Amino acid sequence: MTNYPITKLVDSWNREIDYLRIAVTDRCNLRCFYCMPAEGIDYLPKKELLTFEEIIRLATIFASLGIKKIRLTGGEPFLRKDFISLLKNLKEIPGIEAVHITTNGVLTQPYLEEMKTIGVNGVNLSLDSLNRENFHKITRRDEFKTVMKTLDGLTARGFNTKINMVVMHGKNTHEVIDMAHLARDRKISVRFIEEMPFNGSDMSASQKNWSHVRILEELKEAFPSLKKLDSHPSNPATLYQVEGHSGNLGIIPAFSRTFCGACNRIRLTATGTIKNCLYDEGVLDIKGLLRNNKSDDDLREILISTVQKREKDGFAAERNRRVDKNISESMSSIGG
Ligand code: SAM
Ligand code: SF4
Repeated sequence: MTNYPITKLVDSWNREIDYLRIAVTDRCNLRCFYCMPAEGIDYLPKKELLTFEEIIRLATIFASLGIKKIRLTGGEPFLRKDFISLLKNLKEIPGIEAVHITTNGVLTQPYLEEMKTIGVNGVNLSLDSLNRENFHKITRRDEFKTVMKTLDGLTARGFNTKINMVVMHGKNTHEVIDMAHLARDRKISVRFIEEMPFNGSDMSASQKNWSHVRILEELKEAFPSLKKLDSHPSNPATLYQVEGHSGNLGIIPAFSRTFCGACNRIRLTATGTIKNCLYDEGVLDIKGLLRNNKSDDDLREILISTVQKREKDGFAAERNRRVDKNISESMSSIGG
């Protein structure tokens, strides 16, 4: 491989992009109601998904543009056949310092040893309830016990583990404090995420009643010793520590979008589209370019100019880069 001098991806607001999120599939084995309709979505024909060779080629190009961290997500990434081999190959790309995974934890547990050997840098586990019946209601699948085994396996092996809980008015808000207690004896981060208006659903109740402000109030009331921690400006989570707890807590204002000013990420969807922002509709069909035999140099140039067109924040992206204002797409093809 040619060794290119690193040209950085910088947008016109002077934000440097060093973090790439890749949705490796749009398929999922859960049906979380805020993400997918009960009947599922029309999955892409397999040939529309990027092949592993295409993902690795793009990741290598991105690394030559200053990307240092990759997160693999989906859909459920472990549904992709031989996902472990992709992890291994990505870890070997010069310049890629960290490879993380976001998973629902249903198929993950059998791969933990291999993940440890490969050196996966972190795992985000989605968990919206600690009650088996409520978990079933939210995800429409009875997989609570399997996911908890994955959590135990992750902590036993000392993985850098974060729990993602989407806070949904009337659905799991009574469990926020129980969830926070997961970080009492475990060295993990439990993060509470504002519900976002994907999957075309009406989420106004959550947005009105359960913004990041309300989540923080709830935590402060239960944990008077709660203290704000310093965190990197590009971290979308504001972190907090409860005195005496091994782990910490985080709040992600995913709908309020207060973190956009320091955003360092770009997304590659399962359809092979580049998104400059979670809230835009997709700004570049990179799969089309790859399959039309564009050279690495051409792709590099196109990516540099695409990033320069990034909007200032998620509200501008939603306003200016989206024809369909009702966000009907499923998060499972975007990757969260
Ligand atoms: N299937 C994997 C999982 O659930 O962890 C990875 C893909 S999932 C789309 C990535 C993240 O997006 C999950 O943590 C999920 O909770 C979050 N997500 C999906 N839809 C969302 C929504 N409408 N609002 C907030 N978060 C959402
Ligand atoms: Fe699947 Fe993740 Fe979407 Fe739930 S949030 S339906 S686990 S992709």
